[in-house]
Amino acid sequence: MKVYYDKDADLSLIKGRKVAVIGYGSQGHAHSLNLQDSGVKVTVGLRKGGASWKKAEAAGVKVKEVGDAVKGADVVMILLPDENHAEVYQQSIEPNIKKGAALAFAHGFNIHFSQIQPRADLDVILVAPKGPGSALRSNYVAGGGMPALFAIEQDHSGDARGIALAYGSALGCGRVAMLETSFAEEAEADLFNEQGVVWGAVPEIIQAGYDTLVEAGFSEEIAYFECVAELKLLADLIAARGIAGMREVISPTAEFAGLKGRGRIVTDAARAELREILAEVRAGKLTRDLVAEAEAGYPLLSRSRRDDAARSIETTGRRLRDLLDPPPARRPE
Ligand code: NDP
Ligand code: MG
Repeated sequence: MKVYYDKDADLSLIKGRKVAVIGYGSQGHAHSLNLQDSGVKVTVGLRKGGASWKKAEAAGVKVKEVGDAVKGADVVMILLPDENHAEVYQQSIEPNIKKGAALAFAHGFNIHFSQIQPRADLDVILVAPKGPGSALRSNYVAGGGMPALFAIEQDHSGDARGIALAYGSALGCGRVAMLETSFAEEAEADLFNEQGVVWGAVPEIIQAGYDTLVEAGFSEEIAYFECVAELKLLADLIAARGIAGMREVISPTAEFAGLKGRGRIVTDAARAELREILAEVRAGKLTRDLVAEAEAGYPLLSRSRRDDAARSIETTGRRLRDLLDPPPARRPE
């Protein structure tokens, strides 16, 4: 896979142009501030009265209502929650986006799953930093960056690729690595991982392990240290050395126990379920489910947030975090 850096980007494709960043949440605040610090003219588009409006103004970026921010912009980056894109696009973006502008996303979701069908006169690009906005911003401020994926869905101007690379470079991603993908690949792989691997299965196996020990009479603290806290060590080791490299530095006992355990949990049935999840994601099921969830006022998410917050794993975690890193007032003299 070819990797692109700042040297492959022509910043003039974005520097003299007007960029509207729609949304000022996790990604929106980092994109606006990084672009602005890279010399790009940024206007943030928001709804008046929302919590973000004041935050953006306080940070010193120009803020307008979505439709007004979009008027005259050469690049419009949509950074709202994915399930809100289509409505805001239809109401405020499509009627105002100028002919020949570039429409940009940080996730392939709405284009690949046809929630938005952009006009033929627009460029349609993806620049997706691979991490949360807080780190995208703090890495940039520290002189570094964050890797990003980019993709081109529609190239009306002939410059779409150049604009995507320039945008990624202005975000600071060209300092690390920019990798080319497609909207389809990014959207499907991202949703598959969210449902089936890192954000779906991993927290649940931790929870199940914790529950098993606590039900068997082990103390909550020991269960937490073993099944939850060690995940950070694992993640750091895998990030630094890979999975095989991680296994080289753990104890032979842990390595042997791991060998005996892994196929019992991630069974052939679990692998078959992952293939099923991928097939559902590709058929658009998760997208339809999320849109229906939003339309119904988020009943499933509200219930799971309430139930999760009340679990003993959370009170134990808070107790331990407090114990290990007490607030100044309670720290022993
Ligand atoms: P957030 O949930 O943080 O976005 C919230 C922002 O959207 C707020 O500024 C909110 O304003 C605004 N907003 C919500 N609804 C509307 C509306 N109807 N009209 C105007 N503004 C509105 O989103 P993220 O930053 O997490 O995600 C943005 C995009 O980036 C998504 O496509 C996501 O998939 C992608 N992405 C996210 C990553 C992450 O780590 N978070 C990583 C990579 C990509 P208000 O204060 O008024 O509510
Ligand atoms: Mg995602």
